[in-house]
Amino acid sequence: MKSEPLRVAIVGGGIGGLFTANALISQGLDVTVYEQAPKLGEVGAGIFVTPNSVRQLQRLSLEASVIQRGARVGADSRYYHHDGSEIASVQVRDRRL
Ligand SMILES: Cc1cc2nc3c(=O)[nH]c(=O)nc-3n(C[C@H](O)[C@H](O)[C@H](O)COP(=O)(O)OP(=O)(O)OC[C@H]3O[C@@H](n4cnc5c(N)ncnc54)[C@H](O)[C@@H]3O)c2cc1C
Repeated sequence: MKSEPLRVAIVGGGIGGLFTANALISQGLDVTVYEQAPKLGEVGAGIFVTPNSVRQLQRLSLEASVIQRGARVGADSRYYHHDGSEIASVQVRDRRL
């Protein structure tokens, strides 16, 4: 007899909730995400995805999507205000090295 997939409710559709939902769905679980916001969308800020986060995205085969929509940080990368004025350089390596 085939058993029904475990049903999981996740409260909150932030990156934590959505990552968890994707991970559980990839394991065959029946997941429902409950989010209080009427819709998900950009809030006007970029997000810096650190190497440890990229490794987790790779585990869910999401790395290609992130690369497609994002930009790689390098030695010439800078933080900018909305008016285009520069804030600072982006630290891309440990300053102690
Ligand atoms: C200004 C700013 C800049 C940041 N920049 C970075 C960055 O560059 N890189 C980085 O890695 N991190 C960054 N962070 C941190 C990152 O945003 C958080 O660590 C991350 O969003 C946490 O994810 P989360 O899913 O735990 O929570 P959240 O993103 O807060 O998501 C929680 C969700 O739960 C929903 N919710 C809450 N209560 C309920 C309820 N009762 N019922 C239903 N839904 C509910 C909320 O509406 C929300 O959508 C930044 C944070 C801030 C504030």
